[in-house]
Amino acid sequence: MQADATTQQIISDNWAAVQAEVRTACEAASRSTDSVRIVGVSKYVDPPFAAQLFRSGCEHLGENRPQHLWAAQEHFVELGLAAKWHMIGHFQRNKVRRTLPMLTYLHSLDSQRLTEVLADELTKRETVLPVLLEVNVSQDDSKTGLPPDQAERLLAMLVKQPVFEVKGLMAMSTLGATEDEARREFAKVRTLRDQLQDSFAGQVDLRELSMGMSGDFPQAIAEGATLVRIGTRLWRGIL
Ligand SMILES: *Cc1c(COP(=O)(O)O)cnc(C)c1O
Repeated sequence: MQADATTQQIISDNWAAVQAEVRTACEAASRSTDSVRIVGVSKYVDPPFAAQLFRSGCEHLGENRPQHLWAAQEHFVELGLAAKWHMIGHFQRNKVRRTLPMLTYLHSLDSQRLTEVLADELTKRETVLPVLLEVNVSQDDSKTGLPPDQAERLLAMLVKQPVFEVKGLMAMSTLGATEDEARREFAKVRTLRDQLQDSFAGQVDLRELSMGMSGDFPQAIAEGATLVRIGTRLWRGIL
């Protein structure tokens, strides 16, 4: 499929529909509609479609693979478009140097070794990176993310380094979880955030919770998500 006027219309309609669904979820949770930001996940599509999503109004775009992010970013530069790119997937250390200048936000900080590589590179560049700690609250071994009992240790390391602006936590629900199960897992993430905020009071402001994808963002919003990472639902009629 080529990106053309027809796909632009489909993508714009999807974007409007997702925004409406997020608003509905916010209202159901008695939250203000501007307390949740949508990160459009463009990993499924070629860069011209990501550009159409951006032109529909979705300024925050998420990628889970550095190579895909580089290709998309290159295309955006050619078009003169400036998206805010979020890295949401496992970040290999050997991809840090090239990827970092493109990033607005890292959702998937999950190890001490990645933290060290990032700190070196950020120090060299004299820049600060907003980051989220990815935690694994599901019982799913295949998942990335820190076990909750290790989050505190990594956070202790991060708060000492001014090159990081630690904003909160990121998590995914277990694949195949029911809505209720997903909601309980999101509640666990929020509780963990609250505990960490207490332990590190005055040192960090963990206001962000990145949780919820196409299949479970209403449950995530009900439990306090401030960033929802939505892919599939935005590409309905395209994929
Ligand atoms: C792919 C992906 C998403 C988007 O998932 P959808 O179910 O397609 O909305 C969100 N977060 C991460 C980390 C992903 O890899």
